[in-house]
Order: sequence, then structure tokens, then C-alpha cells
Amino acid sequence: MKRSPEVQLSARHYINGRWETGVTSGQSLNPSDLRETVAEYARADRSQTEQAVRAAADAFRVWSMTTPQRRADALDQIGSEILARKDELGLLLAREEGKTLPEAVAEAARAGQIFKFFAGEALRVGGESVASLRPGVHVDITREPVGVAGLITPWNFPLAIPAWKIAPALACGNAVVFKPSELVPACGWALAEIIGRAALPAGTFNLVMGSGREVGQALIEHPLVDALSFTGSAATGERVLQAAAARRAKVQLEMGGKNPLVVLADADLELAVDCAVQGAFFSTGQRCTASSRLIVEAPVHDAFVARLKQRMAALKVGHALEPGVDIGPVADRAQLEENMAAIATAREEGAEHVYGGDLLQRPSEGHYMSPALFLAQPNHRIAREEIFGPVACVLRADDAEHALALANDTPFGLCAGICTNSLRHAMHFRRHARVGMTMVNLPTAGIDYHVPFGGRKASSYGAREQGRHAAEFYTTVKTGYMRA
Ligand code: NAD
Repeated sequence: MKRSPEVQLSARHYINGRWETGVTSGQSLNPSDLRETVAEYARADRSQTEQAVRAAADAFRVWSMTTPQRRADALDQIGSEILARKDELGLLLAREEGKTLPEAVAEAARAGQIFKFFAGEALRVGGESVASLRPGVHVDITREPVGVAGLITPWNFPLAIPAWKIAPALACGNAVVFKPSELVPACGWALAEIIGRAALPAGTFNLVMGSGREVGQALIEHPLVDALSFTGSAATGERVLQAAAARRAKVQLEMGGKNPLVVLADADLELAVDCAVQGAFFSTGQRCTASSRLIVEAPVHDAFVARLKQRMAALKVGHALEPGVDIGPVADRAQLEENMAAIATAREEGAEHVYGGDLLQRPSEGHYMSPALFLAQPNHRIAREEIFGPVACVLRADDAEHALALANDTPFGLCAGICTNSLRHAMHFRRHARVGMTMVNLPTAGIDYHVPFGGRKASSYGAREQGRHAAEFYTTVKTGYMRA
């Protein structure tokens, strides 16, 4: 097996164009091998966060007046460097977050592509001209940058999620204060290190690391932060929303999911099982778009469960850098404990255990568990609450209408998938699933970066992320009237 390199990074904050040590420091560990420290990183307090916000507010005056070409060139340079270094960045990501090396390298490449996409978008932020109701008057509607954007991200996509917030923020002319999750500071730092080389005016982009309670809270409450884009748990999202509402800041939240994958009796069963395996268990199930509820029509229920169980038994769980591993470790001990507690609750509530859910020993000490599958009832907590691990349940549906009703029977509304060969059922499901994204004969996880991403209900709040729609959040509309 390939051993992880012993290199330990020293990750500092990036504030006002300078690398700064923290008030205190912390360590990030490799969840595949807990003996390995991935990074020693700087941790900020309120006053250091305040410095970053003030630097951003000053830089905004400069950056917001730069030409679209200047912004496009900077983003293009950042995207090119990420793409050129995708293997190295992917290795760092796999070591720090624990997704398998191929998944991690693909995520690094995705981050590069996102910067390239928004380099183009910097040139396309436009407006419209409208005929006035009054003679001799001209009306135009333009988009302007919002100001300082506070960007708060989770650990599960430590390069792609920051990229899809930072790139549109900068493309639209905003200044940025970026706070990555404390589990993955090295990934945040690696991105900052590349952005720092793009010759942005000092203070345009700032990185501050540290706890959510201190750094995150300081950011969401700061009166100079005009826009807050947050991805993370529902509980923290609620805090961000309250803080933003209290001071009328623009806010965008992406939170959890309990995404259904419906399998109808007419589906290609092999394809449906593929979708379930990919959607529920890859990336260790740590995706907000994971297919954690598999809703299967009665005539194929037992055959589907039998085939899925067979496929799960063949999945290899292990060190993220080991070739051939399908599922890496859980990202940290707290998440592993949550997964185990959810499994214990499922058993107590009477969900029928089909496969897995066991702690695993591997040659290196890490947070390993086997993927888990239960047969559940719609009222079981395993069918209602997000677990954020490789844990899925199967619900039996009487027919297509019942499957749709079960799919919608959740507080969440991020993504919903269906496997069917019926165009009529597929169209009906797409129209009536109360979510932000639908998938037909595809896993619920796995998205394109040039189209909107987001959901409804408890999953998301505010404007969509990604693609051209990202400009809705990172710009504000101005209506200009003029008599010539
Ligand atoms: P989390 O809410 O614990 O943390 C997210 C970020 O918020 C971190 O940077 C954290 O430091 C920060 N934070 C914590 N407390 C804060 C506070 N009081 N003020 C400001 N910031 C604070 O979430 P997590 O454990 O890192 O990530 C897992 C969660 O993220 C899951 O629930 C998952 O569903 C969700 N997620 C959603 C999406 C999506 O797009 N919908 C994508 C990925 C992950």
C-alpha cells in the first residue's frame, strides 16, 4: 500500500495580502491514519477576524472598480494553477478529509474548472435597458458588486465548495473573507496560497481559520460584511440566518439533505443499484446530495435489496490513498460517533438491519466503518434525519404515486432521483418532487458546475449557487432613470 507522505504543512492566515500567524494554533489529522498530522494551522480570534474584514472593506473600493478583464485574468490564472497542480492538491485533500485519491483529484480539478468558468462570467455580468413609461426618459438596470462577502464552508468538499463561493464573489467585484472548516484548514490554505499569487489588490481575498464559534460568529455579526454565503449544518445555518437578518445582510444558506432515490418496477435494476451505491456510499456518504432514502416499488423491492446488499459486500473500505479503495474513512471521530448513534437508534426503533454499519480495523488507525443498509418505516429517524455518513435506508412503496409522496415526505428538499424507463413517470416526478434538483436514471449526487445548485425547504435559503445564477447573490441590482 502507498504510504502517505510525512510532510506537515504550516498553514497561516492570509490577511491584507500578508501571511499572518494565529493567536493560537491547531492541528488537522489524517482520518485514514491518526498518527499523521496533516497541518499545523493558525487560529484567529475576533480581533484578527476584524482585521481581515476591515482589509476587505478597504480593498473592495479598489477591486470593485477593476475592469472585467482584470478579474477574468486573475480567475483564469488561479484556475490554471489549480488544474496544473490537481494531483498534489488532491493528495492533500485525500489526506486531510479522507475521500479516496481519485475522488479527491477529481474534486481539485473541479475547483480549477470553477475558477475558469467564473473567469468567463466576469466578462458577462451585464444589465438591461428598458423603455420608460415617460417620454424622453431612459431606464437601465445594472448589477453591481455587493461589498464584502463572508464565505463559511464545511469540511466535506474542502476545495470545490470554497471555489464555487470565492470565484463568483471575485468575478462580480466583491472582496472576500473566507473561513474554512476547522477540520480541513490545509485545503483552505492551499487554495489561498494559489489565490495569493494572482496579483489581486491587497485585502481583496482574505483567509481566516479557526473555530466557528469565534471566527465564524465574528464574521456573521460584523457590520462591514455585506453578504454571507454559508454551507454546513442546519443548526449553524439557522444562526447565520438570524445574525444576517438582524443586520439586514444578504444571506445564502446551503444545508443538509435527506435525498430520495425512487426505484420504480420498470427500472433497469442494475442501473438503479449502481445509482444507489454511488449516491449513498461514495465519498463515505458525506455529501449533502447523498441518496440516503431508497424508495423502491413493491414488485422489485426484494430483488433490489438483495442486489444492493451483494454490491455493498464487495465495496472496499480503507485508507484513502490505497489503490482500489471505494470508501475512505469518516472525516472525524465526532462524525463517526454520530453515525454509530444513528445506527443504534435505527435498531432500537425496529428498522430491519440488512448490511454493515460496523466499526472496522485497518492496518492504520482511522475512522473506518462499513456502509450500512436498513429496511425502514417512514417514521423511523433513519428515514427522516440527515446522518451524513455511509448509512442508507430502503422504504417500500405501493406504486409510483406512493413513491412520490414518500419522496416529498421530508423536511428537506435538496435533490430527488428516480430510476424508471417510463417517460410519463419520469416527467411527473420531475414536476412534482419538491426539491431544487432532480435526477432521472442518475445518482442524486454528482452535479455540473455551470448550472444552478441548491434546494428548497430546510435544505437551502436564498439565491442559488453556481453557474450564471451565482450572480444573483454576488451582485445587487440598480435601476437608473435618465432624461437625456
Ligand atoms: P457545520 O455547520 O458544523 O460547520 C460549517 C461551517 O460553519 C464551518 O466552517 C464551521 O466552523 C462554521 N461555524 C460553526 N459554528 C458557527 C457559528 N456560530 N457562526 C458561524 N460559523 C460557524 O457543518 P459541517 O459539520 O462542517 O458540515 C456538515 C454539514 O454540512 C452537513 O449537515 C451537510 O449536510 C452540510 N452540507 C451541505 C451542503 C449543501 O450544499 N447543501 C454541502 C456540503 C455540506
